[in-house]
Amino acid sequence: MAGEHLVPSGVALSAVPTLGRNNGTGMETMSSTTATISIEQETNPWEAQAARFEEAASRLKLDAGMWKVLRSPSREIIVHIPVAMDDGSIEVFTGYRVQHSISRGPCKGGIRYAPDVSLDEVRALASWMTWKCAVVNIPFGGAKGGVICDPKKMSQGELERMTRRYTSDLIEFIGPEKDVPAPDMGTNEQTMAWIMDTYSMHMRQTVTSVVTGKPVNLGGSRGRREATGRGVSIVCDQALKYLNMTPAETTVIVQGFGNVGMYTAKLLWEKGYKIIGIGEFDGALFNARGIDVSELMEHKARRGSIHVFAGAEAADKDELLTMKCDVLIPAATENVITSRNASRIQARILCEGANGPTTTVADEILSDKGVFVIPDILANAGGVTASYFEWVQDRMGYFWTEDEVNQRLERIMIDSFDDVMQYAVNHNVNNRIAAYMLAIDRVAYTAKQRGIYA
Ligand code: NAD
Repeated sequence: MAGEHLVPSGVALSAVPTLGRNNGTGMETMSSTTATISIEQETNPWEAQAARFEEAASRLKLDAGMWKVLRSPSREIIVHIPVAMDDGSIEVFTGYRVQHSISRGPCKGGIRYAPDVSLDEVRALASWMTWKCAVVNIPFGGAKGGVICDPKKMSQGELERMTRRYTSDLIEFIGPEKDVPAPDMGTNEQTMAWIMDTYSMHMRQTVTSVVTGKPVNLGGSRGRREATGRGVSIVCDQALKYLNMTPAETTVIVQGFGNVGMYTAKLLWEKGYKIIGIGEFDGALFNARGIDVSELMEHKARRGSIHVFAGAEAADKDELLTMKCDVLIPAATENVITSRNASRIQARILCEGANGPTTTVADEILSDKGVFVIPDILANAGGVTASYFEWVQDRMGYFWTEDEVNQRLERIMIDSFDDVMQYAVNHNVNNRIAAYMLAIDRVAYTAKQRGIYA
């Protein structure tokens, strides 16, 4: 890795924070950025990913060639998916699959169904998957998929036909040794079952290990559903130990009450943390005495939303993020902590359940405020870790108990948290840049060993 530090021409460095000093908690105080950027630039996930990559790669003194190899995805597939809708009309949906790196193993990454999916977003998410798999040291590269659609407005039949056609359009690019999709926002176990079945029909045999996040009876792993939230809860525990705090004295606000947010809140609540706020896209709940998360889950299952819940007051969803709490967990979507609200964040710990919830400009503001950030590529890596366990179990045809899955997950999350903290201290950088440096170092090492095929 030793080599000259070269910044390739045309690389936008405006959002990259400048060097600073370690304040003794694994975080670094950074000086102001030298240039201002527009909110559109600030919230472009690909730019955000690229800025962190450039910062970490420059500190690693990554050689110029490897820099070029790792900064861009290796393959980007765009498909236009015709679907016969229930009313007899034909709709065409645009879908993406971006494969960022296969250096450390088959690509791995979720598929997102949402109206605002974009190629830049999918690119960023694919790169984050590469770094995330490397942070937790599992043998996968990174990929991500997305389809521009509104799953809330589509029937099950329409979703099934769209999923099967999307799978069929990607048939030569996915597979257990090529690229293994999983659920993300807007997709779920049923979506994975359709993908597995479609792929299997093309292969003329059942291939369970082509996707993860499947129903348990179709080769899914016990514990996968809760795994991302479990991982978030484990790194929160580790951060509390690191900062000499205790769960009983810790208040938590969670944004998003879907797969990640709901299980994070539930597991932290079971460990004795006080969950004082829960936010959703259309409103929030607050109770200074603590919310009974189990009751809220039942309420949501009954009513289809968290609202009008007897155990908490209604609150403003945007204000929720800046309310006083010890741990803030964005677990919904990207760019919710930006230059517009970062200075008002009062949390001591920011634990990123979602991918890319914090912009690079907000990073700098939080760093100046001394917020302890557990970056997304570490904090939410429990999901892909359990996906790895699912892939392993499918290929063995031998399935573990939930306790076995949870124990292995806990070991990996604790070790990964320690690795990132160690890297932050050794290299005098903040936790996010430490996680990127650790990941890039691991991927670059493998890529270099494999060499460039000509
Ligand atoms: P999900 O669709 O199950 O849940 C997302 C929840 O957030 C929904 O309840 C939705 O209503 C809510 N939401 C959406 N926009 C919001 C907003 N602006 N404000 C407040 N709430 C909002 O999705 P998920 O699987 O829980 O994923 C959430 C995030 O975690 C995404 O960034 C995803 O990429 C990331 N992630 C998911 C996994 C996983 O295993 N599911 C793993 C790693 C990372």
